[in-house]
Formats: sequence, C-alpha cells, structure tokens
Amino acid sequence: MDRVLRVCALYPDLMNIYADRGNLLVLEQRCAWRGIRFELSSSGLGEPLDADAYDLYYIGGGQDRDQRLCAEDLIATKRDALHAAAARDAMILGVCGGYQLLGHSYVLGQDEIPGVGLLDVRTVREDGPRLIGNVAIEVSLGDVEDSILAGFENHGGRTYLGAGQEPLGCVLKGHGNDGRSGFEGARASNTIGTYLHGPLLPKNAWFADRLIATALHIDPSDLALLDDAFEQAAHLSARRAAGI
Ligand code: GLN
Repeated sequence: MDRVLRVCALYPDLMNIYADRGNLLVLEQRCAWRGIRFELSSSGLGEPLDADAYDLYYIGGGQDRDQRLCAEDLIATKRDALHAAAARDAMILGVCGGYQLLGHSYVLGQDEIPGVGLLDVRTVREDGPRLIGNVAIEVSLGDVEDSILAGFENHGGRTYLGAGQEPLGCVLKGHGNDGRSGFEGARASNTIGTYLHGPLLPKNAWFADRLIATALHIDPSDLALLDDAFEQAAHLSARRAAGI
C-alpha cells in the first residue's frame, strides 16, 4: 500500500492555542502506524496556498489579535485556494478561532473580521462571559457507534448557523456554538469547524480516523485497526471530565 496523506497547516505559529498542533501529531502517528506516508506543509502570513497539493487543510485556534492578522491574510492570499480545495472535496478542519474564520465573519464591537465563507456561520463577540469548560457532543456523521466527541472549549465568540447550515453535532454537556442553541460546530461536505480543543484528536481517535479516511477518499473500515487502549482511556477520561 503506497498511500500518502498530505496535510497543510495554516498559520501553525499564530493559530495554535491549547496545543492544537497536537491534532497534527495524532494524524501523523496514526498514519505512521499504518504505513501511510504523512507529509506536513505549512502556509503562513503572506505565503500562497496550493489548492491542489493537499488532502487536508488545517487551521487551529487563536487569540483575537492573531486571528485578525490571519483573517486579513486569509482573504488576501488563501481564500480562493480554500474554496477550490473544498470544491474538489479536500478535507478542511478549523478549530475554534480557525472555525470562526471558516465562516462569514467574526464581529468584535465595531470591528468585523471577515472569514472565508466556507461555512454558513457568523460569530459575534457579545457581552457576557467567555464560554469555557469541558464539552461533549453527539456528532451526526451517520455512525451509530463512536459518535461522541469530547473536548474543551474556551471562546468569547458566539457562533450562529445560517438557515440550512448543519451543525457538527448537538451539545450533550458544555456550551457549544452559542451557549443556547444546543448546536456545536458546523459541517458542509468535507469542511468541518468545531470549538473543541483539548486538542480535539488525541481525545477522539475515532474522529481522527474519520478525517484520515475522508481526506484519502477511502472507507474508514479500510484503515488498519490499531490498538487504541490508551486512546480509548483518553476519550473516556475527557467524557468523564465533561460529565458523560
Ligand atoms: N478568539 C476567539 C474567541 O475568543 C477564538 C478563541 C480560541 O480559538 N480558543 O472567540
């Protein structure tokens, strides 16, 4: 089997809070264990983005200040490539600040930080506390088993789904997109946004495999089974922390 997963991390230095880079390490390791080659590239401020060269595009979470810098750059140098990548069904994952940037906009007081508009969501920094804590959601990817994601959220922005925009899942414990709707994240075809840090993938290895399979355009059952005893323990511990 000569498979290769080609990943591009956007702004890996600026959009990497709560060690979101750990998500990339999980993808790398799960590929390595299966003999799948893993190639990691990055695209930072001012750098172009290749719309065809990658199977998975990734953008982590960030502080408002860094997010603003990245948003300007994203629009100027990467938006068209991301739309082209989404159109050919590449996998695109945004976490927290990255999720907000995949939507239409993030409004902070008088300021509106534009997003790339791949997800029909809008984020607003309203009055009120940050939404912080352990979170568990039930995702709707069509699987009966293993459909719970557990993680940690910390965001000031409240995200609202446009009419017809599917969430990634429903909140079992925690705040989710806006603390009220019961929705968490958003998904449009192979573009996914979520508020779950932790980072997300070490606590939810099953989801890492879904991403790998989707990015490679293969069935998840075609991925070799791994001994996930530690990963299961991490998942259960994250669920327990959330109270599920
Ligand atoms: N800056 C954004 C907010 O506070 C995203 C934070 C994050 O990525 N954790 O809403």
